[in-house]
Formats: sequence, C-alpha cells, structure tokens
Amino acid sequence: MREIVRFPADACLPSAADVLAAQGVPADRETPEPIAEALREALKLFLELAAPIGIVSEIPTAEFAEVYGGEGRNAQDSPLAGIFPKAGQLLLFAVTIGDRVGDEISRLFAAGRFDLGYLLDAVASSGTDRLAQKLQECCGGTGDSPHAGTVPDTKTGPDENALRDIDVPVRTSPFPLSPSHLGDLGVLGGSIPVSECAGRTPAGTVFLRYSPGYCGWDITGQRQLFQALRPEEIGITLRESCLMEPLKSISGVLVAARPEVHRFDNTYPFCSACTTQTCRSRIAAVEESRGTETEFYHQDTKTRR
Ligand code: SF4
Repeated sequence: MREIVRFPADACLPSAADVLAAQGVPADRETPEPIAEALREALKLFLELAAPIGIVSEIPTAEFAEVYGGEGRNAQDSPLAGIFPKAGQLLLFAVTIGDRVGDEISRLFAAGRFDLGYLLDAVASSGTDRLAQKLQECCGGTGDSPHAGTVPDTKTGPDENALRDIDVPVRTSPFPLSPSHLGDLGVLGGSIPVSECAGRTPAGTVFLRYSPGYCGWDITGQRQLFQALRPEEIGITLRESCLMEPLKSISGVLVAARPEVHRFDNTYPFCSACTTQTCRSRIAAVEESRGTETEFYHQDTKTRR
C-alpha cells in the first residue's frame, strides 16, 4: 500500500493557544493587541498559502529494520528499536505544508516584517505538527469521518468560512485571540482519510509516529527513509545536511502496536539532554485512550509516576 493524501489547510490550522504555547508563552499570559493582530494575520496567511499533503507507504518489518539501521549511527539502544519488531503494521510517511508558506516567511523577513515573519514561522511549525497528527489519526481510523466537511481545491484558495471566522474581531481579555474560537477552525474542513490504511489497523493497536533525528534514531536515517519512501513525489527533497526541503516537513514511521508496546521508561542516555520529553505525553495519551493510569520511570525525578 502506497498512498498520497491531501488535507485542506484549515484541517491543519493550529489554534492560537497552541502556537503561543509552542513558543513558551504561559497560557495565562495576556497577549498585547499588536501581537494578537499579527498572529491573526499569520493564521490567515497560513490558510491562504498552506497546501498540506502527505504520503504513506507500508513497509515489512524486515525492510524497516534496514531503513532504521541507516548508516549505523543510531544510539546503541532506543525506544523505537525495541518497539518496531513488535508492531502489527509499519507505515513510512512524510508530510509537508508546501513551500509557499516558507517563501512568504523569507519575503517578510527581507521586507523587515520580523514580527509577522516570526509568527508565521511559528504557525507553520505548529501547523506541520498538526498535519502529521492528522495523518496519524487517519491511519488509526480516529480522524474525521470520510468525506466530512468540504475539501477546498488548493488551487483556488482556502475555505472562505474559515477566513471569515478569523476575521471576527476578538477583544476579550486576557486573550484577545480567543483560542477556543480559533482552535475550532482546525476541524472545520475535516480531513481526507487515508482510505487504504484507515480501519486496517490491527484490532487493539494504536498508531504512534517516530522520526529520524529524535530519540536515538540518527538524522542520517533520513537517507534510507527517503530511498524507501520517495517523498519527492509530493515535493519533499533531502538536503545534504539531511534537512528536508520544504523545511516545514515531517517524515518518519507510523507504528501500529498494542498500547503496552509503545510504553517505555525515558532512561536512555540521550534522554538526560531532552528538554521536551514529549514521549511522556504521547504515552499518557495512549494510556488515557484505553482508560488506564500511566506509571513510568521519569527521567527528571528518577521516580516512578
Ligand atoms: S525523554 Fe526525550 S529523548 Fe528520551 S525518549 Fe522521551 S522524547 Fe525521546
């Protein structure tokens, strides 16, 4: 199975709260109106310019072992090394919001619009994360239902309803952008399901994604991943440095496995330098979905929680 899937831009639009949180802004911090206005403009630009697209391709475990082995630079041990051999299904994937957003960011910086350029970059990063999450949900059959909402033609521009909602003036304090309102925009257009893999997830399993450059999977693993997936077909290329072009792209493997297989303690040597510890919230979400409590070894406190 190999499939290309397009998403409407509004399905990937991050909430204002998510964008600010990703920049380290506390949720209860009042946003000055000039920044709120620039963020509104950045969200509108994202809707106008983003052309989210993804590609997924199933890969047998033995073949993925070669992809994962890469150039032999992975950490000696890693979460994914222990997880993928127990997976029910493995899908290589890559997603991108296209190059028009990046071009606009460059144009804004060149024109001295550093505030808007910075915020559009932040929106684009959160939007790309959201796109990868949408793809993961579709593969797991937990995304929006097939044919939900309208799928705008990316050539003719964004969903006018979504733009109209962003235009609503918001002056409430302490958060002028009304994060709950803007956050809703992300699901207005629905998403296009990955028809081949949605519903094919083995019963009782959960999809989680893992990417080169994180958690012991060396960034040079991108080369083998690209050889196997060939995301050039959707416009994603690999630089010599192993960074992707467009920059706002994410690649990796979607692993379908029983929830307990995805669970691990973050006690790997590289975890001590990790500032995000995103694995904890990912595992907690999996545990929450099956209604059990999370208890794992926590790197920060050296205790079990
Ligand atoms: S603590 Fe950080 S580096 Fe370690 S597994 Fe979790 S996300 Fe990866």
